[in-house]
Amino acid sequence: MKKPIYYTCQNQSCGTRWESTEVVVTNEGQGPLFRCPICGARNALAAREEDGVTVYRQRRTTGS
Ligand SMILES: [Zn+2]
Repeated sequence: MKKPIYYTCQNQSCGTRWESTEVVVTNEGQGPLFRCPICGARNALAAREEDGVTVYRQRRTTGS
């Protein structure tokens, strides 16, 4: 059983929660990301290998 992966749009005025299957992961040259289907904000992801499968986890971009 695979646990679903959730992403949260980092646009503070949006903040929509998405299941990983609801968004399209692309790589525009600066690492994987998805664009929020509602507000279009770019949200950085980090690729990780789990059990031989590449999964994308959300990268926290807020804070320092
Ligand atoms: Zn959004």
